[in-house]
Amino acid sequence: MPETVDVAVVGGGVIGLSVARELRLAGVDRVLVLEREASVGQGSSSRANGGVRAQFTTRVNIEFSAFSISELERLDAATGLLGFHQTGYLLLCGTEAGEQGLAAACELQRSLGVDTRWLGPAEALELVPFLRPDGLRAATFHARDGFLDPHGVVAALRAETERLGAEIRTGTEVTAIEPAPGGALEVRAGDATARAGFVVNAAGPAAGRVAALGGTELPVAPVRRNLAYVREPGDPRELIPMCVDLDTGVLVRREASGGFVVAWSDPDDPPGWDTSVDPRFLEQLASRVGNRFPLLEDLPLDPRQCWAGLYPETPDHHAVVGPAPERPALLHCAGFGGHGVMHAPAAGRAVAELVTLDECRAFDLRPLRPSRFAEGDLVMETAVL
Ligand SMILES: Cc1cc2nc3c(=O)[nH]c(=O)nc-3n(C[C@H](O)[C@H](O)[C@H](O)COP(=O)(O)OP(=O)(O)OC[C@H]3O[C@@H](n4cnc5c(N)ncnc54)[C@H](O)[C@@H]3O)c2cc1C
Repeated sequence: MPETVDVAVVGGGVIGLSVARELRLAGVDRVLVLEREASVGQGSSSRANGGVRAQFTTRVNIEFSAFSISELERLDAATGLLGFHQTGYLLLCGTEAGEQGLAAACELQRSLGVDTRWLGPAEALELVPFLRPDGLRAATFHARDGFLDPHGVVAALRAETERLGAEIRTGTEVTAIEPAPGGALEVRAGDATARAGFVVNAAGPAAGRVAALGGTELPVAPVRRNLAYVREPGDPRELIPMCVDLDTGVLVRREASGGFVVAWSDPDDPPGWDTSVDPRFLEQLASRVGNRFPLLEDLPLDPRQCWAGLYPETPDHHAVVGPAPERPALLHCAGFGGHGVMHAPAAGRAVAELVTLDECRAFDLRPLRPSRFAEGDLVMETAVL
């Protein structure tokens, strides 16, 4: 007889761990996390920049952020593991179209209870004096945004998940997901089989493959993203907000231990599994960083401290959360792009409600439903960094 569990979660990244934690908090009895690597959090979660922001352009993403920021604040206070620096995010724009988009997003965020502030150029420069002011038209700032240590989030979620009694089985790659009597599913990993009332696909960039194991289609693709580290001479300086130059897409934050982490995402990067730093990225960054951050043009980049990883991307830059139409016991919770660490708490709550209440009450999951791709009914998130 196969082992029987209530929910099997495929993938032990921030999403799978958060789902397992929330399932146990909601009273689900037997929760099993299956992770193919030797330890949890070694996938995309280990490569993240740690940014946390409520400054999105769609209701569902803003609501996921608002919920998650409160939970991350609580988790940091409870465990001391997250290193959550609430420096705020400062979004800067120098074009008329950019300003209109920023104003619309700011209004939507404020209507949903997020205290985003509209700033003129002088106020933005007060926050970050080394910005190049030329052509700067406007900025928005939300003080509860910031950045944290993604490894700390994994450590805190793992500890909580285990404390609450879910089982995490590492070194266990799921190789088949098959229908079982009564609408349940059987999950195979090597010679072992577990029968589960629900299977949660939390496989990050590999979620499309795991969906296929379960006989369903899911357009989640791995897309490489790169980060650069720039050294700054002298002692560590005061932290600054996470700065986003919307004109070029360059993102800059100061590290607590000194230096800057700088990111830029090429919208034309094709899907792929390579996680080495793309040499083209450094050139692309060099030609853009001076637009708002000329200070960084003169500082040395440390190639040994640059890194890359995979965004689990979807065509509309929204996650997929909900039952697979063809197989309702298979719940997808994947495709979080560049916001999976920050949205992990909300993702976990959404799945726990789907399992225990048969519906999600905390959020309207309609824009995240798996069937939207086949229906051609996509809403785009445009604040993609
Ligand atoms: C360079 C970079 C910067 C980023 N910056 C940010 C940021 O600032 N803020 C933010 O919120 N997010 C950021 N992200 C995105 C974030 O890292 C991801 O959205 C998030 O980690 C996704 O978590 P996950 O649990 O879905 O995926 P993962 O962490 O990849 O976890 C999925 C797990 O599933 C396991 N798995 C896959 N297939 C199987 C199988 N068949 N059987 C068993 N296990 C399996 C994998 O081994 C993996 O551990 C960034 C990502 C990158 C690459």
